[in-house]
Amino acid sequence: MEKTYRSIFKWGDKREQKLEKGIVDLIKEKFQYTDADFGKKVYYGNQQVHLHQKPRIPERICQKLSAISGSENVLNDDYSRASHALGKFYADLLYLRKGEVLAPPDLVVMPRTEDEIRQILALCQQENIALTPVGGLSSVTRGVETPRGGISLDLTRHLNKIVDMNTLNATVRVQPGIYGPALEKYLNERGYTCGHFPQSFEYSTVGGWVAARGAGQASTGYGKIEDLVLALSVITPTGTIDSKVFPASAEAWDLNKIFIGSEGTLGVITGITLKIRKYRPRNTAYASFIFKGFESATQAMREIMQAGTGFPHIFRLSDPVETSTAFKMKGFDNSFSDRFLKMKGYRPDERCLMFVSMEGDRDFARLLKRKIKKIAAKYGSFYTGSKPVRAWLEQRYESAYLRDPLMDAGIMTDTVETAVTWDKLIPLWTSVRNYLESREKTHVMAHISHVYENGANLYFTFLSPMKPGNEIEDYLQYHRGLIDVIQANGGSLSHHHGIGRALAPWMKQEMGKTAMGLLQAIKDHLDPKGIMNPGNTLGLR
Ligand SMILES: Cc1cc2nc3c(=O)[nH]c(=O)nc-3n(C[C@H](O)[C@H](O)[C@H](O)COP(=O)(O)OP(=O)(O)OC[C@H]3O[C@@H](n4cnc5c(N)ncnc54)[C@H](O)[C@@H]3O)c2cc1C
Repeated sequence: MEKTYRSIFKWGDKREQKLEKGIVDLIKEKFQYTDADFGKKVYYGNQQVHLHQKPRIPERICQKLSAISGSENVLNDDYSRASHALGKFYADLLYLRKGEVLAPPDLVVMPRTEDEIRQILALCQQENIALTPVGGLSSVTRGVETPRGGISLDLTRHLNKIVDMNTLNATVRVQPGIYGPALEKYLNERGYTCGHFPQSFEYSTVGGWVAARGAGQASTGYGKIEDLVLALSVITPTGTIDSKVFPASAEAWDLNKIFIGSEGTLGVITGITLKIRKYRPRNTAYASFIFKGFESATQAMREIMQAGTGFPHIFRLSDPVETSTAFKMKGFDNSFSDRFLKMKGYRPDERCLMFVSMEGDRDFARLLKRKIKKIAAKYGSFYTGSKPVRAWLEQRYESAYLRDPLMDAGIMTDTVETAVTWDKLIPLWTSVRNYLESREKTHVMAHISHVYENGANLYFTFLSPMKPGNEIEDYLQYHRGLIDVIQANGGSLSHHHGIGRALAPWMKQEMGKTAMGLLQAIKDHLDPKGIMNPGNTLGLR
């Protein structure tokens, strides 16, 4: 796989994952697939990377960059450029599979210090060269592309350290290019946790979490990334901004919030101070429930969040199709427990699975579990113990690996997420489902995985056979219709994946003209020449 397109688009540790029997059976049944279809290897991407477009940055500028960061940190070979050209948006994966890299960066630069970043930005500003900061390149919203070429500024090679930890204040200061596991290992060894576990945890960075305004799987308890950031340092083309660490402040606007979610359009985030919490896994309590229907389960979720007894950490609810798919894949169908649940009125096409974890202080976790069990029982649930949650936790990052073998078999596989208030949740879930299922042969699953007092997110996963020869435009058209339906039903354009270029066309309508003008004015002040992640990111000029 060395230096092939496949080595670029494959998720995570690049291992080849085989589809389990449960999912193969489901696809055969739903899409009338045969064994031969699973051997297809559609756009397998096994060809060596070769770019037609040569780097366009003049030699004298390359030499200056080498003088700043060292020639070993300024890369212009085809493979480095291709591997920094696209993220993990579904269409990006198709482009890479086809060996089509239309707009690679001219150079990949890996700065070693903040001062080097300042010098690189000054040079780019002077020479009008586009610059896109990147971390793990796991963006699923076209946030890391380089339509104007220029420099992809990779922060993972050198700027990946813990700067300091302060247990008195319960904070940690990190550089932006540190990956999730390195941060968490450091904190756990000292009795703390960051509490931020996106499904991409192993291959995404703290800088990317902040820049794309993400959420981790335990965000219901720990909060989204914007709840965890206390201070930031950002180097912009206009100058450097260092926000200070305060527990709270009324110093006019919250500067951090300008940069959280800015997706590289304003500057390079070079330092991040995060809140940390005590790490006490032995205290964690787990619970799982089966509900008779999605609506009653969401009512229980709402009541739990509004009860005033504290929030669980992981709080997930799968809708009926996702629940039955999980049961099929785990071989649960027709087991003794399955027959028992059916007998008790938990029907296969209606029942929903809920997972909960309660962390922190032991007494708090036990008390909250008791309260949650009581509310869940009121809504007709059946308690299924802690084991299913523990089993899920053991493979919590694994499902990301299924996308590649599914695409090998010619199956469009994508996810879309939104956030919505409680009053609109069921209508939105129904409308989006109806839209997605209006496509012939489509399997649609949904879950809630981040819950608030005022509403929740909805996360849809859909599988459908590709339209051979027209895979990309077919997908983009379907995706456009999907975002229209979400917006029309009062859902946010994104809950945790960010906007990038993929959702930018909806921003003006979403924000309104005056608000978009404000965002543009901030951009124009910090980046007057428009060099930072240009090309319609966030809908900005
Ligand atoms: C399989 C899979 C599962 C995922 N699950 C989740 C999930 O559970 N929760 C979630 O929130 N997201 C999830 N994502 C989306 C993605 O992982 C997040 O958006 C993540 O925060 C991106 O981090 P990164 O380091 O890969 O950043 P990149 O993809 O490299 O960059 C993302 C954006 O941030 C900008 N950026 C990166 N670093 C900096 C910096 N230092 N300064 C300024 N701008 C910067 C980039 O320019 C780009 O616009 C998932 C993605 C995949 C592929």
